[in-house]
Amino acid sequence: MITVAQVIVDVAAYPVDRPFDYLVPAEMTQIIETGCRVKVPFGPRNVLGFVVAIKNETDVPIEKIKPVSQVLDIEPVLTGEMLDLAKWLKNETICYEIDALQVMLPSALRAKYEKIANLQTELELLPEPLQEIFRASQQINLNVFEKNNLLPQLKAAIKNKQVSIANVVKQKGKVKEVRKVQIIEDNQKLADIQANISNRAKKQKQLVEWMQLHAGEIMNPEVIYKEMHTSAQVLNAVVDLGAAAFVQEEVYRDPFTKEVKRTNFLNLTDEQSVALNQIMNAIEGQEPKTFLLQGVTGSGKTEVYLQTIAKVLNDGKEAIVLVPEISLTPQMTERFRSRFGELVAVMHSGLSVGEKYDEWRKIHQGKVKVVVGARSAVFAPFENVGIIILDEEHESTYKQEDSPRYHARDVAIWRSKYHNCPVILGSATPSLESFARAKKNVYTLLTLKERALKQSLPKVQIVDMRDELKKGNRSMFSQSLMESIQIRLEKKEQIVLFLNRRGYSSFVMCRDCGTVLQCENCDISLTYHRKNEKCKCHYCGYEIHVPKTCPQCQSDHIRYFGTGTQKVEEELAKFFPGIRVLRMDVDTTRAKGSHEQLLQAFGDGEADVLLGTQMIAKGLDYPNITLVGVLSADTSLHLPDFRAAEKTFQLLTQVSGRAGRHEKPGEVVVQTYTPEHYAIELSEAQEYDPFYEREMHMRHQAGYPPYYYLALIQVSHEDVLMAADYAGKAVEWLRSQLSFNVSIIGPTASGISRLQNRYRYQCLIKYKVEPDLIPTLLQLIKIYRSDWIKKGINLTVDLDPNMI
Ligand code: ADP
Ligand code: ZN
Ligand code: ZN
Repeated sequence: MITVAQVIVDVAAYPVDRPFDYLVPAEMTQIIETGCRVKVPFGPRNVLGFVVAIKNETDVPIEKIKPVSQVLDIEPVLTGEMLDLAKWLKNETICYEIDALQVMLPSALRAKYEKIANLQTELELLPEPLQEIFRASQQINLNVFEKNNLLPQLKAAIKNKQVSIANVVKQKGKVKEVRKVQIIEDNQKLADIQANISNRAKKQKQLVEWMQLHAGEIMNPEVIYKEMHTSAQVLNAVVDLGAAAFVQEEVYRDPFTKEVKRTNFLNLTDEQSVALNQIMNAIEGQEPKTFLLQGVTGSGKTEVYLQTIAKVLNDGKEAIVLVPEISLTPQMTERFRSRFGELVAVMHSGLSVGEKYDEWRKIHQGKVKVVVGARSAVFAPFENVGIIILDEEHESTYKQEDSPRYHARDVAIWRSKYHNCPVILGSATPSLESFARAKKNVYTLLTLKERALKQSLPKVQIVDMRDELKKGNRSMFSQSLMESIQIRLEKKEQIVLFLNRRGYSSFVMCRDCGTVLQCENCDISLTYHRKNEKCKCHYCGYEIHVPKTCPQCQSDHIRYFGTGTQKVEEELAKFFPGIRVLRMDVDTTRAKGSHEQLLQAFGDGEADVLLGTQMIAKGLDYPNITLVGVLSADTSLHLPDFRAAEKTFQLLTQVSGRAGRHEKPGEVVVQTYTPEHYAIELSEAQEYDPFYEREMHMRHQAGYPPYYYLALIQVSHEDVLMAADYAGKAVEWLRSQLSFNVSIIGPTASGISRLQNRYRYQCLIKYKVEPDLIPTLLQLIKIYRSDWIKKGINLTVDLDPNMI
């Protein structure tokens, strides 16, 4: 009987997007399992692959079938659940199965291909400089020759058949090991060794004597040096005598830099209890329900998560907690570690490849029960999941921007069905899609209307910056904000200043009347292109020259908009001499741990003002913050995105929620040029429902989600005519296949019309019900993969796109 492995290979191209059969050599049959990674020959080279099934027959003629070269994992890295999930992702997001498989693993486990030069002759026959290099080993990485400028010599040697080149599959990350000393167990033998050491080697003798008290122990060499006041030299000598041996021990890199204090469960408020009970019931009943936990900022959603997790752990199950990358602040992760200590693994982009790998291994090996992580943590390889939580479920970072273009929410719900456990989607300002589903009872709505300690929500004041200009105030701070800052400085309370940089300087606005240039067809802000001084609609392609005067009020104060944190810092220093400002943006948080340090410093009261961009909008919970200032509420309002109003409302609500979370009441000043816009007006009361009603109405009229679904097709090519031509072909083909009530907009040049020297065109499909859509798109992909791809075209399909 033969054993055959079905393998998905690490080659992302259409003709190979299916499993291939490989023969499992006899010596591997005991080791190989589905979910293992293997090395297999593919064409002229070796590639990485995943075993997705094992069987005992094959259609491939036996003389043609190639054997598996190597099994890379003793234990499978992917569970059966993950293999199923990959197939689902492949269909659901229209991606290659290999991409779906790879996205589930830490990058350390992905393949790294190296070119290795193999010596094929006597060393002496090589030219002098090559000899130097091959002296170290018969196999040398090609980049060594490159570094030493020896590629021409190497090439000659290859021609002479003295050296051959092979492609080798390597793993990116390594298990970290430390060297330890294991003392032999046999005390008699230790005594004999000691007796045989000459009296002149006093230190060695003493060491072996001491070892007799520690027979069988494994210890750190440093401990021995310290205890015995001895050196590596002495230890090495004793090891040579056979009293001990050096061993390698696997360790985990520790991504946590500081200890956390344990905290206890809080007594829940009535609202929290009601929510928790419903979730508990679903856990007990093993119901794969999705809850939408809508709670105002500071209502104690996190406490509900924590107590849910405690229940799940108590049942012997595991918990997955997703938070947006940006709010994976130390403060947030500490709250989980303070309850569940060593049982928590953390996964986010701030970790090194090695640290991520180790956190993943802790999960894989069952050493931890809770993972707190960004989007990709939804694939945490737990086998007995009891709850999946998405905090700030409305965040756009839950959708991956490149293949596989999955949404963590969809994956979470898929896994919840697999494990028969509930999902919690938490937010103060849910996405319209989720809230609409809750209203239709697809999700179960749980509401927390009050803050946990019954503090009132902060008082929000909206300031019209056009009036400031009329009063002659040309600074970036309104009179009102300045006064509020002054009061805080006197009272020694803290201030958060938020600079909205989303959509930074990409739209054109009149400073006198607040008018922003809009597309005539789409009701979406035009995007400013500095290069040709034009404004362009990214939905339909409409474009105009930047006007010299405002079309509304004829003012000539019309210009593109935006300002940087550095500028704000300078202005603050001008108006408030001696003010202590901590600036937090991409520039000041680049170094590892700097985020953490800045927040720590602010928490310790080392600054009056925390000034920052998006990254300070979430997760901050400091008692002394009593003022939040939003310098430019409008910027995100004018993103060329149908979700611009939703995002603005969410952002304003989030950032306002940083003020007055504890005893001291909070105040918020929102500066804007368009106070009449409903997203800004309604953020004053911080009530979600009126905003929801209003925004749903807009979406209905304009034909956007959640009323309609969207799919985005992008076509790119180095040549602009080719890109336009094939985008046109795609649209033509879609028009011929899809029903009449589907609208197909485009093709138009994409937002960033040229990226990495490729021209990009796109088309947008809007539909309500179109059962044929996925099959049609798959057909299009097939045409592309079998023909267009050869002409250098690149085509992508993004279902439910974030940005357009
Ligand atoms: P959210 O996640 O909804 O913004 P948090 O969970 O951060 O709210 O809670 C806000 C504050 O209220 C935190 O400081 C938290 O410790 C506190 N808190 C939450 N629940 C309770 C409770 N039941 N009793 C006392 N304090 C609570
Ligand atoms: Zn104007
Ligand atoms: Zn338009």
